[in-house]
Amino acid sequence: MQEMILMKLGEVVLKGLNRRAFEDKLLANARRRLANFGRYTIYSKQSTIYVEPEDSSCDLEGAYDACTRIFGVISLVRAKPCEKDKDAIFAAARDYLREELSQAKSFKVESKRADKTFPMSSIQLSQYVGGELHEAFPHLQVDVHQPELTVHIEIREKAAYVHGPARPGAGGLPTGMGGCAVSLLSGGIDSPVASWMMCKRGVHLEMVHFYSPPYTSQQALDKVIDLARLLVPWCGRLCVHTVPFTEIQEAIRRDCPEDYFTLITRRFMMRCAQKVAERVGAKALVTGECMGQVASQTMEALAVSQDACTLPVLRPVIAMDKEEIIRLARKIGTFETSIQPFEDCCTVFTPRHPRTHPVVADVRALESVLDIDGLVDRAMEQSRYIPVRL
Ligand code: ATP
Ligand code: MG
Repeated sequence: MQEMILMKLGEVVLKGLNRRAFEDKLLANARRRLANFGRYTIYSKQSTIYVEPEDSSCDLEGAYDACTRIFGVISLVRAKPCEKDKDAIFAAARDYLREELSQAKSFKVESKRADKTFPMSSIQLSQYVGGELHEAFPHLQVDVHQPELTVHIEIREKAAYVHGPARPGAGGLPTGMGGCAVSLLSGGIDSPVASWMMCKRGVHLEMVHFYSPPYTSQQALDKVIDLARLLVPWCGRLCVHTVPFTEIQEAIRRDCPEDYFTLITRRFMMRCAQKVAERVGAKALVTGECMGQVASQTMEALAVSQDACTLPVLRPVIAMDKEEIIRLARKIGTFETSIQPFEDCCTVFTPRHPRTHPVVADVRALESVLDIDGLVDRAMEQSRYIPVRL
């Protein structure tokens, strides 16, 4: 029997009657993610997902790596299945974990019996296999309290499984379980992290990016597509809606006071993002705004941008320190791309003295000189969408 992957479901198991739907979503996500790594049989039983290669040409290493990024999985491990027989189990443990057993100083065996028809109790099986392993690797000490290596044995319906310590999975909920939201993706550090965090909570994302040629370059746009591509292993296929913002920004610069430039620009972003949401049936917007980080991220400024749309605006990094956001950006793999120095349309016409405590009614009055609907409609007519895969 070939080496395979066992994944433990996370919060999914708490979902009562919805549990089946959660498991099905997770299975569908896993099947799609692993399609690039060969043919696998993937199914769930007793809060565990089994990923079994169908032939020896499968890239199990690549599949395992991909599995660490599937939301809804609390832990995972590569395992060796074998016959449900104590000596077959011992032989599998000895051969499969030979390197770990040779290197460790102390060990213990821990057995679990989901199949209660197995003739030995968990303790008897652990003692038997532990004793045999001790003989095969005489340098090993048995330490039941703080062993360097724990050999796990699971007796399940189809087979027995032997494995070493499991590693933490991506956590969260299966992507797609939490509905759909439109995420405003800039080229910065924060918005990819914000997107990732919502996706982790099961939200399927559609991305929107605003760009202002010739003030912003093709490289700036490419960078955003690169960022989306880096999120795909976590979030699954993504679509980036690109919305040209040049006409809007030039109109604001011409007709509105400089101090309000960023605030009014952000209101147009919310309006256009909401249009994208209507197109795709999304029920919320996501931004990488963080309390107090810049002038447009004060409490009053957030009220001003929220006022331009009716959908809830989710801001998962609102209370995080920059350091924490950067740590996450590194973990998910977007940091190095985010810090490439290309301009964002937000930074093109930055006011010298941005308003930090704006009043919603004032901003509404100041922007009322603009043909708001016309500007939004024209930008949306010229929007494109770019599907992003691995
Ligand atoms: P980030 O690091 O994500 O760029 P930031 O700290 O630079 O964030 P702002 O530039 O004020 O902050 O932008 C706040 C949020 O507005 C971003 O996190 C993003 O969600 C959205 N945003 C900004 N610029 C764009 C853009 N060009 N396209 C789409 N969304 C944008
Ligand atoms: Mg930015």
